[in-house]
Formats: sequence, structure tokens, C-alpha cells
Amino acid sequence: MHRYIKDNACSEGKENCLLSMSDIMRVWQDRMTRIMYLYIIASFAVEMILMFVMNVRNTIEIPLRSYVIFLVLFPTILNLGCLFIWIWMRGRWKDNQARLNYYSIVLFSIMLSNLIIVHCIFPIVYGVLVIPLFMSIVFGNLHTTKRCFHFIVGLYVVDMGLVTLALYPYHLTESYIFNMIISFVMLPVGYLIVKYIVQTEESRAQLVLQRSVENAKLRAEVEVDDLTSIMNYSGFFRTLDESVTRWKAGKTLNLAVLDIDFFKQVNDDFGHDAGNQVLQRFGALLTDVSSNRVCVARYGGEEFAIIFTDMNDNVADRILNYLAEKFASQTYDGIDRQITFSAGITNYEEGMEPRDFFRIADRALYISKRNGRNRITRQ
Ligand code: GH3
Ligand code: MG
Ligand code: MG
Repeated sequence: MHRYIKDNACSEGKENCLLSMSDIMRVWQDRMTRIMYLYIIASFAVEMILMFVMNVRNTIEIPLRSYVIFLVLFPTILNLGCLFIWIWMRGRWKDNQARLNYYSIVLFSIMLSNLIIVHCIFPIVYGVLVIPLFMSIVFGNLHTTKRCFHFIVGLYVVDMGLVTLALYPYHLTESYIFNMIISFVMLPVGYLIVKYIVQTEESRAQLVLQRSVENAKLRAEVEVDDLTSIMNYSGFFRTLDESVTRWKAGKTLNLAVLDIDFFKQVNDDFGHDAGNQVLQRFGALLTDVSSNRVCVARYGGEEFAIIFTDMNDNVADRILNYLAEKFASQTYDGIDRQITFSAGITNYEEGMEPRDFFRIADRALYISKRNGRNRITRQ
């Protein structure tokens, strides 16, 4: 039973591990790069359009040259700088996903915070730094979100200090201070919301994991034969369906069906318990050859099956011959008779339904029986 669970978990694990966490994070980083490019192009375009409209309407309060330098060139150069640093970091810290995650938020926060310095309009200040905080939800990691929050608070203080004290000290009115307090409070409130979302997602992921472990355990219990501890009827036909579904052109998939010869006679002559002893011994021999490419099952009373995945025909035949020899040489308590099995084996061909695949192997077994038993027929 253990072996079956282990091998099954292994092959399923491989399927599920096709996308690792670092693969997912790499996709996110590609998207982050795209977001940065888009943001730079969009903010440059918007500033240009604003400048054009204001110039036409003659509402620009500072000389046009200063406007271009301060509101268009300065933020664009700063944004491009952040983008280049990000691209450089991605090349340098390829293997340090945690660091890249953190710096993607740091650099994007700096890019967004340029808007605070350039425009200093409170609707922008309110929301702009909460955006990267929410983006950090994607990491599902509270520690990273917390570090991002600390950086963003620092950035807010520096930006507002710069704006208030150095650039526009004449703005410092009562309503300005009021707005500044509210926009600052938005940050911890945003952090709390992000924290609760991440915690809820963590609990949900834990629940899903717990359920899938329980399901795997339940399935292993339901699909295991009590007498031989290998897969039973339902486990076998599910695995056969899955093997056929996963099959790809160029791969080999062999199915063997095995049936103990004159087994009824064994029961009749030596008793049911003696018969069970033979079944258990056969189950143990099959378990010995099983692996994640050799899947064994007892699908009927004295009927067994083996699915050979990605294995040459002659290797599969050799395993069957080895089993035939080994089984025939067994000795049992209270049974003074040589017991053998007959088998049929066939190779999967494109387009076959699992049941047809099984029927062909079963027909080969029938030929073995008709030709005198204790033999293997390949069809
Ligand atoms: P053949 O060589 O044609 O396969 O003959 P056979 O006697 O093996 O085949 P048959 O189908 O006539 O008999 C199968 C026997 O297997 C009948 C049944 O009593 C026995 N059997 C089925 N399940 C069990 C089991 O769990 N324990 C025992 N001891 N016997 C079982
Ligand atoms: Mg039978
Ligand atoms: Mg039989």
C-alpha cells in the first residue's frame, strides 16, 4: 500500500509541479516590466497632451521651458532610470525571487510617487501609493508586503516633505495639512486591507491543500485491494484511462493481463485460505517489480494487470517472463503443486479507447489459455 501511494504521489507530483512558484513569479516579473513600460509611455503622453492643451489655453503658470523640464522630462528620465535598474536587477538576481519581488514594488512606487512631486494634487496623493501596496498581494507573503509598506511610508514622508518644504511651501494651508493627514492615514488602512486579503488567501490555500491531501488518502484507501495491497478494479481502470489520456505519439504504453492457471482447482483441492496465500504471494511478486513506470493491479479474483509506461516492448516482455519464472518456482504451505499464470500483452496504438486496449490484451490472454496455459502471448 505504501509503495502504491508513494509511486502515485510521485507521478502526480510531477504533473502538478510543471509550474513551480518561481516560474509563476518570473511570469509576474515579465508582466511588471510590461506595466512599467506602459506606465512610462502613458504618463509621458498624458503630460505632453496636458502641456499642449494648457499652452493653447494659455493657462501654464510657469515658463514653457521650465514646464517641459520639470513636468515632462524630469519624471520621464526618473521613470526610465527605475526601469533600467529593474531590468538590471532581473539579470543580476535571477535566482533571488524574494528580492526581485520586493524591488519590483519599490521601483514602481518610486515611479508612481513622481506624480506626487510633479503635480501635488491630493486626489493623486490619496491613491497613488496604495496601488503598489495592493500589487504586493500577488506574492501572497505578508513579510514582503510589510517591507513594501515600510518603504512606501518612507517614500510618502520624503515626497511630501520635498513638496511641502522645498517646492511649494506657499501651499501650507489648513486644508492642505488636513489632506496630508488623511492621505497619510490611507497607507496603514490600505496595509490592513492588504494584510487581511493575504491572510484570507493563505487560509483558503491551506484548506485546498488539506482537502487534496484528504482526497488523495481517501482515493488510495478506496482503490487498494485488501488482500494483496496493490491497486484494485477501480484504481486499475482509472489508471488505465489516465495512461491512455497522457499517451503521446512516439511513446510506448504496454498493457499485460495475467490470470492464474487452474486456480479454482487450487481452491477446491487445498481450500480457500490456501488460495488466498497464492494470491497474496503473487501480489507481493508484482509489488516487487512495480515502480512509477510499472503499475500493477488486481482487477478481479485471480486476474491481475500491469501497465508499462515509457518502456520498450522487450523490457516489458522480460519483466513478464521474470514474473512467470519466479511465480512458477514458489512453494506454499500446504500446497504441493506448481502454480503458474498465463498472460496476454499488447502495445497501445493511437486512437484506441482504454476499453479496446484492455480487450486486445485480454484476447491475447485467451490465446495463451487456449494454447495450453503457462505462457505469454503478445498481440
Ligand atoms: P483458468 O486456468 O481457465 O483461468 O481456470 P481457473 O480455475 O483459474 O478459472 P476460473 O475462472 O474457473 O476460477 C477462478 C477461481 O478463482 C474461482 C474463484 O473461486 C476463485 N477466486 C476468486 N477470487 C478469489 C479470492 O479472493 N480468493 C480465493 N481463494 N479464490 C478466489
Ligand atoms: Mg479468471
Ligand atoms: Mg484463472
